[in-house]
Amino acid sequence: MAQKSGRYWVAWANAHATNSADVNALDADFKAKVEAFIQALKAAGATVIIAAIRRNPKRAYLFHWAWMISQGKCAPGDPAPMQGVDIEWDHGDLKRSKAGAKEMVDGFGLAVPPASFNPPSLISNHINGQAIDMTITWTGTIRIRKKDGTVIDVPYQSNPDTNTLLQEVGASCGVKKLKTDRPHWSYNGK
Ligand SMILES: [Zn+2]
Repeated sequence: MAQKSGRYWVAWANAHATNSADVNALDADFKAKVEAFIQALKAAGATVIIAAIRRNPKRAYLFHWAWMISQGKCAPGDPAPMQGVDIEWDHGDLKRSKAGAKEMVDGFGLAVPPASFNPPSLISNHINGQAIDMTITWTGTIRIRKKDGTVIDVPYQSNPDTNTLLQEVGASCGVKKLKTDRPHWSYNGK
């Protein structure tokens, strides 16, 4: 029997639809590319801290529609059902439906206007296992070996989105920078 939207689903997702920060959760092809990149960085003396790897699609579904309904951006009857997530978004009353969705937004700690005007995405390279969020730091300039064997000097910059040399090393391994999201790298730069 379907369970109505509300804080029940926060506990459910935290038990049954968790994200992973384990490199082994990546898509196998992208995992090999990430490992080559991280290995080159570490060999050069950089520190790599992985923040996020794979986003659970059920979690993404709950985030997205709870945000949309609570913000009045769609009707409670709009979300298509998702296999394995027996949630009833429509409480038969708009006010109660929005309140149930709001409990989930609060429980998940989602950013809402004015902090964020974009709903949590349903589509992401993090869901496919083809993206990684990581922080890469070092001091001064280090020599990093690209995948083709050539070595380049890469000065540290606090913002990796403007560090084109670092991006060049990543790209040589097949790991591309999304230049509007500091920790985010993926197979296609998105
Ligand atoms: Zn990311």
